[in-house]
Amino acid sequence: MPYTTNQEEFIREQESRIKSYYKSNKIKLAGFETPERFIDWYLHELYFNNNKCHYCSTSILNIRDLLNRGIITGRAVRGNGIRGNNLEIDRMMPGEEYSERNCVISCYYCNNDKSNTFSYDTYRNIIGPTRKVVWDQLLNSQH
Ligand SMILES: [Zn+2]
Repeated sequence: MPYTTNQEEFIREQESRIKSYYKSNKIKLAGFETPERFIDWYLHELYFNNNKCHYCSTSILNIRDLLNRGIITGRAVRGNGIRGNNLEIDRMMPGEEYSERNCVISCYYCNNDKSNTFSYDTYRNIIGPTRKVVWDQLLNSQH
């Protein structure tokens, strides 16, 4: 089954996904104070950023297109589906809590790579924009 790249279908899917994500991650997300605030925050981030990763400025719908075309692969997580097809929640300062102030939405590829290794500024200003160049090349390829 290909991942949907239709905007309306995507938003409906995300509304339901992020609610269950909250239920499974309540303790981690306590800094958002209420489930509603977390869900609203995530959906607003998607909306105001046109579904783009904070670091590589690439729409998750474009990343899904690369996954659907088999140009890139996701990562299977035991008992927890696949990573790659959704925007994840990255803490700008990894030592601090998950909260509106400290979180951004990020593709799996940036989130996983940034990890605790690279600073927010390095990732935002150097590695993210470089990854965008690579994504754009892949998106324009004829594979
Ligand atoms: Zn990214």
